[in-house]
Amino acid sequence: MQSVSENVVAWSLLHKARQSLNEQTFENIVFRFASIVFDIPKNANRQYYERALGHFRVQYYNEFLYNVIKRSEECCRFIQTLSSFTIHAKFQKKNYIDLFTELLTFYTGSMGGTYNGKPLLMEPAVDLIKAPALHLKWNWDQVMLIRTDKGFTRGRCAVCSKRGAIERKLGIYLCPASSLPLCDSCEMDSAILDSYLQDCQSLTLPAPSEELQEHLKGSLDVCQRLAIASNRPNLLQDLRFSVLEHGEAIVAENVRLVSSNRELKRTLAQLQQQSNHAFASNDEYRVSMYNLNESRYILEKQLQQQEQHVKELQGRLDESIRQQWLYYNQLRGD
Ligand SMILES: [Zn+2]
Repeated sequence: MQSVSENVVAWSLLHKARQSLNEQTFENIVFRFASIVFDIPKNANRQYYERALGHFRVQYYNEFLYNVIKRSEECCRFIQTLSSFTIHAKFQKKNYIDLFTELLTFYTGSMGGTYNGKPLLMEPAVDLIKAPALHLKWNWDQVMLIRTDKGFTRGRCAVCSKRGAIERKLGIYLCPASSLPLCDSCEMDSAILDSYLQDCQSLTLPAPSEELQEHLKGSLDVCQRLAIASNRPNLLQDLRFSVLEHGEAIVAENVRLVSSNRELKRTLAQLQQQSNHAFASNDEYRVSMYNLNESRYILEKQLQQQEQHVKELQGRLDESIRQQWLYYNQLRGD
């Protein structure tokens, strides 16, 4: 049961991580680059490096540059490093190695860590039933660094250093971070073991979900019953009925989900309608604002005309007063 569930957990985590590689993120573009570099053979010539870089640009990088406008500081440094390389004329293999080494520093890890220097996420995608024991390679290199720090040697018993010791599960789940090589006659000191498990905690394979545990338990129960049953045809019949019974529950759940989906669609349509109305009202406001501005403009014009008129009247009044004074003075003079 244990190693089956670990196998499924490792496979499903890698499967999900592989699916999300198509998202346009800096981490993903770095991983794409790293996976191309990790596949370059040791004795590859200059042309091989050149082709690898070209493949990266055409397959992933150009699209990333086109689509991703919002870039982190780190992302800008990656782009800067790569673009400064293109301005030189002729390169030697050493120039490529230097560039690739520098760009690889941006790769800080991926799901499942690395196994013998290669990301586990680079393992070819296969169906679960054909999947290798990925849980036994989980964060392998990262765990080996901790083991070396603690003085354990690969393939040798962690207690007596005898050669040919096999990995023994000492933590909760079967994976390198929860295991150590031990020979048949040795037991690990509990304080040393606790310290090792503690240091490896973040590298341990995550726990399976409750649903998965339950489902696996059910499947294994079936296998066990099949193995020990005296009357197989009857047992298979029972199992079929059990599946039918569960099938009905699933159908009922499906009906409920379809109905809830319909309800959500209706709410969404209402919200859309309200949103359209809001847009329409907005247009109305715009029109009335325009009309108000027009009216104000007309009033201003009228006001200017009135002021002009008042000015003329004032002029005429002044002239009239002046004439009257003139007349008055003439009368006095006479
Ligand atoms: Zn030993």
